[in-house]
Amino acid sequence: MKDFSKQSIIILGSGCAGLTAAIYAARANLSPLLIEGSLPGGLLTMTSEIENFPGFPEGISGFELMDRMRKQAERFGTQFLSGQVDRVELSEACKRVFVGDRFIETEALIIATGASPKFLKIPGEKEMFGGKGVSICATCDGAFYRNRDVIVIGGGDSACEEALFLTHFCKKVTIVHRRDQLRASKILADRVQSEPKIELVWNAVPQAILADENGFTRGMIVQDKNNSQSREIACEGVFLAVGHEPNTKLFHGILPLDDSGYFIKEPNSQTRTAVGGVFVAGDCADPHYRQAISAAGTGCQAAIEAERYVYSRQSSV
Ligand code: NAP
Repeated sequence: MKDFSKQSIIILGSGCAGLTAAIYAARANLSPLLIEGSLPGGLLTMTSEIENFPGFPEGISGFELMDRMRKQAERFGTQFLSGQVDRVELSEACKRVFVGDRFIETEALIIATGASPKFLKIPGEKEMFGGKGVSICATCDGAFYRNRDVIVIGGGDSACEEALFLTHFCKKVTIVHRRDQLRASKILADRVQSEPKIELVWNAVPQAILADENGFTRGMIVQDKNNSQSREIACEGVFLAVGHEPNTKLFHGILPLDDSGYFIKEPNSQTRTAVGGVFVAGDCADPHYRQAISAAGTGCQAAIEAERYVYSRQSSV
């Protein structure tokens, strides 16, 4: 096994932000160590088609984009460690990252741990998640619902993308949204509203997911916000697209977080935290934009800041 015991830069997370930071740090000759986390390549690997990442006029699959970024980071000398960080100790003087039964010290740390899909916390959701009709990923599970009726919950870009993707397989896709208009970008909202296989159910609050006698999804109960009446919509699959929460639990009490759990950055900085030498990038620190390109942008900024930090410490020794 390679000895990773002392590093100049460690990057946590292998999504757009982490891999971009790795490309920049590697090209600065800092041989970064990137710890991949539980989903190598991050959430984008679960996206079907990315149409708004500059440089790909025909679009590119999320998996391919992340694979290309990984190869680019590798080409310049990034080392990869698969696994998850269990604990960190962070101070200006000493930064330690614990992985399994060992720890690694580093001069600078870039945290790019991303965000995870939210759940509704309604009856039936947990019981039928992962194989019995409740899913958070149309790209992964859509093909199982060929010629069936499904529901997508949410009104943002993710819900629209999931619904459009599902029309390739499903007989009918019903979007259940708790408001009377979509919050998605206009281009996606227009596509959804002109797609004959998609029906929109407005002002509908999900209340429960129903199981058949074998424990598989057979429908959903929604409540109309206008008259409080509940009704059942039959379906064999429910796809959740109700937003994300930042993956920052590991840092509670160690780095400043806002009420929603996003990292709070130092004034006038996109990436610096309250602890010198610790930087943040991507969705774990961005409640506003949450785009692949903006994650890549902050990954680049974090790497440049980390590079300056490491070289300034080395030149002052
Ligand atoms: P989002 O924009 O936060 O939308 C989440 C949706 O879920 C909202 O419509 C919200 O309803 C609904 N929702 C939340 N909690 C709910 C609950 N308990 N019950 C019912 N509905 C609930 O999340 P997103 O769609 O995942 O997008 C996140 C970010 O990624 C956005 O900035 C988006 O632009 C970006 N994104 C971009 C692309 C793209 O550019 N191609 C693709 C995917 C995502 P309300 O509207 O009432 O709050």
